[in-house]
Amino acid sequence: MRAFDYHRPATLKEAASLLRKNENARALSGGQSLIPALKLRLAAPAALVDLGAIEELRGIKLDGAVLTVGAMVRHSEVATSRDVAIGIPALARLAEDIGDRQVRNMGTLGGALANNDPAADYPAAVLGLGATIHTNKRAIAADKFFLGLYETALKRGEIITSVAFPLPKRAAYAKFANPASRFALVGVFVSEGAGSVRVAVTGAAPCVFRAKDMEKKLAANFAPDVLAKVRVPPDGLNSDIHASAEYRAHLITVMAKRAVAAAVAGK
Ligand SMILES: Cc1cc2nc3c(=O)[nH]c(=O)nc-3n(C[C@H](O)[C@H](O)[C@H](O)COP(=O)(O)OP(=O)(O)OC[C@H]3O[C@@H](n4cnc5c(N)ncnc54)[C@H](O)[C@@H]3O)c2cc1C
Repeated sequence: MRAFDYHRPATLKEAASLLRKNENARALSGGQSLIPALKLRLAAPAALVDLGAIEELRGIKLDGAVLTVGAMVRHSEVATSRDVAIGIPALARLAEDIGDRQVRNMGTLGGALANNDPAADYPAAVLGLGATIHTNKRAIAADKFFLGLYETALKRGEIITSVAFPLPKRAAYAKFANPASRFALVGVFVSEGAGSVRVAVTGAAPCVFRAKDMEKKLAANFAPDVLAKVRVPPDGLNSDIHASAEYRAHLITVMAKRAVAAAVAGK
């Protein structure tokens, strides 16, 4: 790890100013992705701006048909929140199955989205629910946020402040997890909302994506069996020591069917 300056601002304004003034500064939330990257010298920022003391980034609020989760909310808080359990139980279950206890007690929603790891769970929920990502500058629709491998629509120094999730009629997430890290080899989030069905796939490709052929079938009949013959082609999917592209393509259909079955059963 190389030397860096450390700042812990108390307000969002102060954090934004520190990031703006120092071109080589990075925001720090739970540190579950950034600190390992610093240790491996994959990242060497001149300064870290710790968002942990900023009250505006905290809190979970269920208001009418929208659940808003602050960027600094930890995975363990989402997993145990009453409001999340009432509004979007599938989101609570997703958070409960992220990594291990340390990762869940430290990692945050904002950090996970900004990092956009290809195998992360939250991007599937955010895209699968058609959520809106709020930053200190603007609101970004999920469909426009995830751009590629570890790449998002965030500009340099832009800070995620919260995420607004529209409440679905029903939703569920099914993950085939790497047994060591719990990251998704393939994870599929499905939701049925007001007049629309969304299916988002993580882990399979360099970036989370929507399975539009599956969405069309499910819009006509929201049942697992309608997906039996829908195949996502393996071209462009990830292939590594854990699973081939062909195996991941197969898993997408299996996980999508499981997610729909769970949503129908209200699990
Ligand atoms: C052993 C292990 C297992 C894991 N397993 C899983 C898993 O099963 N599923 C899963 O989804 N994830 C998993 N993770 C990743 C974990 O969820 C991380 O918490 C998450 O990727 C990053 O969140 P963080 O709060 O720790 O962010 P940090 O590490 O603090 O930051 C990550 C990146 O986001 C930027 N950033 C942070 N907050 C903001 C913000 N508010 N606005 C803008 N930019 C910001 C930082 O500058 C940095 O570039 C695992 C991690 C570990 C170490």
